[in-house]
Amino acid sequence: MKLSLVVPVFNEAECLPLLLKELRAVLDPSGLDYEVIFVDDGSRDASLALLSREAVLDPRLKVLSFSRNFGHQTAVTAGIDFSTGDAVIIMDADLQDPPSLIPEMVRLYQEGYDVVSPQRLARQGDSWLKRGTAALFYWIMRRMVEERIPPEVGDFRLLSRGAVLALRQFREQHRFMRGLIAWLGLREVILPFQRRPRVAGATKYPLRKMLRFSWVAITSFSALPLRLTITLGFAASLLGLAYFLFAAYAALVLKSVVPGWTSLVFLQCFFFGVMLVSLGLIGDYVAKIYEESKGRPLYIIDRVWNIAPESGPTRRVVVLEPRDAPPQP
Ligand code: UDP
Ligand code: MG
Repeated sequence: MKLSLVVPVFNEAECLPLLLKELRAVLDPSGLDYEVIFVDDGSRDASLALLSREAVLDPRLKVLSFSRNFGHQTAVTAGIDFSTGDAVIIMDADLQDPPSLIPEMVRLYQEGYDVVSPQRLARQGDSWLKRGTAALFYWIMRRMVEERIPPEVGDFRLLSRGAVLALRQFREQHRFMRGLIAWLGLREVILPFQRRPRVAGATKYPLRKMLRFSWVAITSFSALPLRLTITLGFAASLLGLAYFLFAAYAALVLKSVVPGWTSLVFLQCFFFGVMLVSLGLIGDYVAKIYEESKGRPLYIIDRVWNIAPESGPTRRVVVLEPRDAPPQP
């Protein structure tokens, strides 16, 4: 069988030599036919230079280079689009996903599973903030959005060819791979492992990016926030009605109408807030519909190594003219 590895890379020059070394140490003795697809997500450091140098020496190393940073989930998508193996493993470049797990994942695939999902038992090297927000994220996702998403399972996954072919059909702009994989509903097995700290460099997911990622995950998978708006609106309206009844009672029966400025201001502010939040939420969904309606490609690839840009799913663009080609006469 042939195994494809998909590695998204964004400014990982310090990690890549270590990753290559560990991958070779695991894959070369295994006797597996393999390819490693590195997707350079617009790195601004030496990552691409390093990868292209390695690719020239080893045809099993394939490189796709994006024209700019399109984001982690899009980089994974591109890698899956170009993979040719019977099974595909997605893994980070920072060695947080240990290559030593690969033989066990392949064994489970050969037993007949379509999706092998390593589950993080420990998160060494992650701050308490990251652990806490991650736990909250999985809780919300499972409870309210998609119950099939296994907790503490990241993008480190093995996918069978069938799962890959199915995933290639999903061409939405706002992507959340874990949700898409869960949505497929294929035979899945959980494989617990200890997650290590990053070997080098800093996380490319600061809090701001994580919040954006979570928001895309939730809003691309459910209209739940919109529905919550309705609930919130109802609750606010009921409160308003109750207050109105009380005010009427106070005016007509108790005849103790006081200036009431404070409560008026409070109600104004409260309802104004509810309205604005609701409008913003609707606006966010409308914006997503707008972006989707343009039908743009998901990514632009401007250079490739060891890859024939064959036809594949739509909504992707490969710029065939290499930028460093000599100028035509
Ligand atoms: N990454 C990417 N594009 C981005 C951000 C990250 O391709 O815009 C890659 C990054 O190089 C790494 C993987 O995605 O291989 C996961 O990122 P990171 O390890 O920084 O995230 P964390 O493990 O801290 O959540
Ligand atoms: Mg990492």
